[in-house]
Formats: sequence, C-alpha cells, structure tokens
Amino acid sequence: MVGIADYNIKERPQWCPGCGDFGILASVKQALAELNIESHNAVIVSGIGCGSKIPHYIRSYGYEGIHGRALPLADGIKLANSSLTVLAIGGDGDGFSEGGNHIIHAARRNEDITYIVQNNYYYSLTTGQASPTTKKGMKTKTTPLGNEIKPYMPVPTALIAGATFVASSYAGDMKHTKEIIKKAIEHRGFSFVDCYQPCVTWDKINTYEWYKEHVYNLQDEGHDTGDFLKAMEKGLEPYRNNFERLPTGVFYESKEKTYADLFPALAQGPLVKKDMSKRNLEKDFEMMM
Ligand code: SF4
Repeated sequence: MVGIADYNIKERPQWCPGCGDFGILASVKQALAELNIESHNAVIVSGIGCGSKIPHYIRSYGYEGIHGRALPLADGIKLANSSLTVLAIGGDGDGFSEGGNHIIHAARRNEDITYIVQNNYYYSLTTGQASPTTKKGMKTKTTPLGNEIKPYMPVPTALIAGATFVASSYAGDMKHTKEIIKKAIEHRGFSFVDCYQPCVTWDKINTYEWYKEHVYNLQDEGHDTGDFLKAMEKGLEPYRNNFERLPTGVFYESKEKTYADLFPALAQGPLVKKDMSKRNLEKDFEMMM
C-alpha cells in the first residue's frame, strides 16, 4: 500500500511562506498515494517558474525542463513508456505564454497525460510581471496603470482545443484539489486542471480570503460534465461576471481514443519494453513513408 510518506523528500520547498504551491504539492502527493501509484511509476515534468520547482519536492522521477516546454517533454515520456503516470505541472506564464501552443496540440491529440497549471495571474519568479491570465485592470510591474489586455481563458481554451477532461480547483482547498487531481490522473486521455494558486508575495488582491468568497463547486450545483456547451458556458463565467464567481470542479469529461490508440506500435504496449533487436527496421520505415 502506497502512502504519502513514499512521496516525501527531505528537500524543503524554496517557496515564500504561505504560497499556494504548498497546497498543490500536498494535493499531488496525496492523490498519487491514494491512487496507489508507486513513486517509481510516477513522473513529474515542469518548465520554469516558482511552481515548476515541484519535481524537486516529490520523491518520484522528475524533469525540470525549459520554459514552457513541460508538455512536449511529458508527451515524449508517455509515448516512450506508457506504463508511467505522467504529470506536467507549471505556472500560467510558463504554460500559457511560452508554452501556449503546446497545450492546444496535446489537448487535440488527446495525449494520455495530466496537466496541472498553478494559475496566479503573475510571472512570480521574475518578481511580479503581468502574465497571460492577468485580469483586466490589475496593476503589476509591467502594467503599472492597470492591465488593458484581455486575459487568456484557460478552461474555454482547453475545451475548444479538444481536452477530454477539464477541471479547475483552488489551492486553498486541498481536499477538493486532491480529489480533482485524482480524477484527472484516472482519466484516460488529456486531463487539464486549472488550479487557482494565491501568490502571497505579489498579489495583495486575489488573496486566500478573496478566493474563499468567490469560488464555488460546480458539482454542488449539479453541473452535467457530459455537456460540452454547458462546460463552455461555465468556463466563460468568470470573464462575463468580472471574476465575481469562480467555478471549480469538473467542467467536462468524455471518453475518446488517445493519441497512442491511433498507432498500432504504441497501442501494443510500452515502446521501452519492446525488444528492438528483433525489429525489422526497414519494414517499420516503409510503413511510415
Ligand atoms: S513569489 Fe508567489 S508564486 Fe513565487 S513562491 Fe512566492 S508566493 Fe509563491
């Protein structure tokens, strides 16, 4: 039986005291443990940012990659060894700016990986510049008079790109975040979790107290997770009501073929376990031409 201790490591997170990333870290470890996934079968991949240090704080395989490239790395790992549980985790700047193209293609190909975004509306590691999710009017180091650019919409974008599991959660509610991450990992196909993560150093407006008053649970309101249009409506809600109400929970899920299902070589099992010495490479190349 796997326990959270299997995922604990001595390394102390280099995050500001009170950072929302602590809640996400604890939720990820707890989710993996409760799903009984042994730590040598889990891989955490990240890009660059405060939250992208997360592979250092979990006892599993991990890879801190380059800015915005967590998803292609995660895709490659999963394609090479489909027996692994692969999670890509990173911030909103990393994932939606530098890595903005990757989420679209990982979602539409339905890669069998989980992508968790620590969304705090800032580039926090670089000391508080505006990111793609910065709300209109927010004052940051790069928008001292207030941001005038429309924010990137993580949930509607993931839906429209074809993600087969789309959810959001709030890092201050670890129990719910853990449950959402468990569902995301269990989902077969591309699962996306937009996790609201308070940045206590740069953001004095979107605080824990603020989130407490504004988040609500879609499942408490009987949301139908099989209804794409309703999911889109709920995903757009914060942008239509000036972030007065923030839905959390599962917006949408559907069962569809994954990317690996489409290729006989991948569908037969993990590539790394194949005995390549017996392969007729000429025949393989012919098949690809
Ligand atoms: S700057 Fe913000 S996001 Fe970065 S560790 Fe500190 S509180 Fe967390």
